Formats: sequence, C-alpha cells, structure tokens
Amino acid sequence: MTQPLDFFRYRHRSLRAGSTDLAEIAARVGTPAYVYSAEGLLKPFRELQSGLRGLRESTICYAVKSNSNIGVLKLLGDAGAGADLVSGGELLRARKANIPPQRIVFSGVGKTADEIQAGLSYGAHGIYSFHVESLEELELIQSVAERHDVKQARTAFRFNPNIDAKTHPYISTGLKRNKFGLNRAELLEAARRARKLGNVHVCGLSIHIGSQLLSLKPLQAAFQALATMVLEIEALLGHPLEFVDLGGGVGVSYEVRGPKPPSLKEYTRLIVATFGPKSPFRSRLRVLIEPGRTISANAGVLLTRVLFRKARKAKDFLVVDAGMNDLMRPALYGSRHAVLPVRQGTKGKLKRTDLVGPVCESSDCFGQDLQLDTALASGDLLAIMSSGAYGMSMAGNYNSRVRPAEVLVEGNRWRVIRDRETLDDLLRGEHL
Ligand SMILES: *Cc1c(COP(=O)(O)O)cnc(C)c1O
Repeated sequence: MTQPLDFFRYRHRSLRAGSTDLAEIAARVGTPAYVYSAEGLLKPFRELQSGLRGLRESTICYAVKSNSNIGVLKLLGDAGAGADLVSGGELLRARKANIPPQRIVFSGVGKTADEIQAGLSYGAHGIYSFHVESLEELELIQSVAERHDVKQARTAFRFNPNIDAKTHPYISTGLKRNKFGLNRAELLEAARRARKLGNVHVCGLSIHIGSQLLSLKPLQAAFQALATMVLEIEALLGHPLEFVDLGGGVGVSYEVRGPKPPSLKEYTRLIVATFGPKSPFRSRLRVLIEPGRTISANAGVLLTRVLFRKARKAKDFLVVDAGMNDLMRPALYGSRHAVLPVRQGTKGKLKRTDLVGPVCESSDCFGQDLQLDTALASGDLLAIMSSGAYGMSMAGNYNSRVRPAEVLVEGNRWRVIRDRETLDDLLRGEHL
C-alpha cells in the first residue's frame, strides 16, 4: 500500500518528485498547484494488475472521480486501465483519454436519460455496463435503449449488502441507511422485471461498500454476500452472469505514522481466493475492481506558499495560499494530511501551529496543532502530502478563488496538464 513519502522524497534538502525539485515547479507555474507523479500512479496500478493475474479475466476500472484530469486518465488508460464513471462529464473525459468502451462502467444513483444515451452511443456497442441502482433507473435504461434502437443495453445490478465498512459515515455506502444500491428484495424484483424488458441485458453484479477501508473484513463479508447473490440471480434470470464488479475502497496511508491499511497483495489474494480458479466459481466470472484513491492518493501533493504567520502565545497560525476550496478533504471529512517543507533545514524550534487557508470559514484548516518549525516564513513552500485523490476533483470556486494548476511529473520531465484558472474563467457564463 502506498505511503505519503513513496513518490516524493528529499534529495539535497529539497523535496522532489523523482529528480524534479518541487520548488522549480512552483517557481514556474505558481502556487497553489497540484503535482502528480506518473510513477506514483502506475506503481499501485501495476501492483493490482499483477495481483489479479491469477484470474482468468479482470479489468481495473479506475474511479475517475478520485482524480479526473485527462492527462492522468490517458496515462492510466495507456497502461490498460478502464474507467468507473459517475457522470456524463466523466464519460467525456474517459473518451478524450481514449479509454475504450469495453473497459468502462457507469455507477451512481442518479443517471439522467442524456447520460445513459451518451453511454449507449460510445463505440459500436456502448459501454461495458451501467451499474443499476434502482428499479426506475432500469426502466429508464430500457426506454432510452428502445428509443435509440439499442438491442441490448448492458447492465449490472449494484447490490447493497448492508455491511458496515467501518469508515467515515460520509464515505460509507454499503449500509441499508445509505442511498446506494439495491437491497436483496429490490434486486430480486429488478431481475424479475429485467427478464421482461426487451432492450436490456443483465451481465453482472456490482458492490461498493465504502471508501478508505482499513480492514479487509468488511470487504470479505461483502464478497461472500455477492457470491451468494450471483447464484441466486443467475437462477432467477435463467442465464449465467458474465462478471462481478467488486468496487473500490481499499484505504491508503495519509499520515506518515498513521493507521495501516491492508496491503494490495492481501486485497488481491482475497479476490482471487473468492472468485479465482480454486474458488467455487472456478474463474468463470470476469472480475472488475474500481480503485480510486489506492491509485491516485499518494501520487499527488498540493504545493502551497506561506503568506503570513500569526504568532500567538499558545499556538501560531500559518496562513497559506491554498484554501479549502482547493483541497476539501480536511474540512469535509476531518481528514489529516502530512505537511512538509519543500526546503529542508530551517533552524527554528518546533511550535504548535494551525495551517490555515484564506477562505472565510474556520473549517478552512489543513492541520490543527501541527508541530511546525517557527522559522517557516512568508514565501516558504509547503507540500500537503497525499492530495492526489479527491483533491483537484473536488476543488471549487468558493470565495471566487480560481482553481489551481495541475502538473504531471514523468521520468525527469514535467508538464502542465491543466492551466491555473483565470479571472475570465471565473466569470464565464455569468450575465449582468
Ligand atoms: C468512489 C467510488 C469508488 C472509488 O473509491 P476509492 O475509495 O477512491 O477507491 C469506486 N466505486 C464507486 C461506485 C464509487 O462511488
């Protein structure tokens, strides 16, 4: 499993992505800026690929919402990744990055007719699967397919197994109180209904019980529940399913000395044991997974510059030029990120410090009571680590702030993969 410092390390007292000095990037593109390491994205992806090699067929559908920059999607797509989408906008991005339709699945509780139509019309046969989350969605897919003369819209049912993922409530999705998926009764009803629909074909079942899981136990229980459901649904449909999609959600380390998530080896071993050649399924089902943060979280940092220090007796406030609009996770989930100076070796003493942004909310705080060097001063650069997932993809314009630039480091070269927004971008589409 990736760690915050796996792909960003100090050499000659400066923090680098490979051989690239982060200070050089900041000098050229300004701050705040997201910096991603191609190696950091590819390493966990390849580890998952090799872990799943024991299966007859598998596809890693990268969860686009975790980091949806088309440069990132192109890199992963070229390495063999598919995509797990949650909107028509993400479909556009996947297409732009040339991810083939046979590797694309579409999740989410609220797909619109336009989004369904866009998915059906990508390539000759449409995307690999719409993961259906309600009976009404199934009916909508049928009617859109019929209207556009699509013979068989490929669908899967998303099963909500009512299993506690033991993660933050906002990113827990597999409990009956959550809006996601179909419970057993709804699923059986949907299967009965699907048999009567002429333009949809049910090819699989999917689950996704939550994000940032720190134990494999809930996943193991969910896989078992899914395995049982496969047999039940096949009996009802009267034909075998083609695939199972096991969702994403394996946690990563955000803090250098934080809780330890399961390794990717243990995770893939569990998958192969449940659905592989030695399982009761004898590898007859294709297995899909939808990892997001596992691939992108520790592949990125948010570079920010210190604006001011407010020295107080009990603790200082260090005000930086990145805000909660740029990186929302701490404000939204109370998540913690390691914060490192880009230049090592300032010589003050450590003092209790809150690292805060300029946004007019007290939740605009990247870290409370951090032990930071008192010598850190206006102009100094900091890296907010493990910001590659749910960083830029969640960024917004609150306080009328422009969104940051994004940079991809590949080998010893780097390039801008998204320009910093301009003030013109900010007002586009508004009218007096
Ligand atoms: C968000 C999401 C994922 C990815 O979750 P990670 O924790 O980033 O791996 C996968 N599948 C679905 C359906 C999701 O909503």
